Amino acid sequence: MSDCLFCKIVAGEIPAETLYRDDLVMAIPDVNPQAPIHLLVMPVRHAGNVAELAEGEKDATIAAVFSTAALLGSRHAPGGFRLVANTGKDGGQTVDHFHVHVLGGRQMDWPPG
Ligand code: AMP
Ligand code: ZN
Repeated sequence: MSDCLFCKIVAGEIPAETLYRDDLVMAIPDVNPQAPIHLLVMPVRHAGNVAELAEGEKDATIAAVFSTAALLGSRHAPGGFRLVANTGKDGGQTVDHFHVHVLGGRQMDWPPG
């Protein structure tokens, strides 16, 4: 997707610190952190959101994104962390390329806003 912000990050056209990368996923710090630890894990190949991926042909992408997010959460926020996949307008998604937020380093509130 030529006009997608995260596709441009994956392609190296917009700079970001690569915290993890393999054939399926990439992880970067969030540019506007909402917690002391705030990472984003996204698929290398464009997908609009997790629901779109779940409806499509089954592949390993959803599992790879969430398992990488969990591993990075354990590593960067050993006290505990929250994984968030904002999906669609009401879900608060602002970048239409599937990503999981890894939030940690402080006590999380519930319910979320
Ligand atoms: P969401 O609102 O769930 O779609 O999350 C999008 C996230 O992308 C927000 O937390 C933004 O702070 C983050 N973001 C936007 N642009 C960049 C960027 N260039 N590098 C890293 N994170 C970004
Ligand atoms: Zn994209």
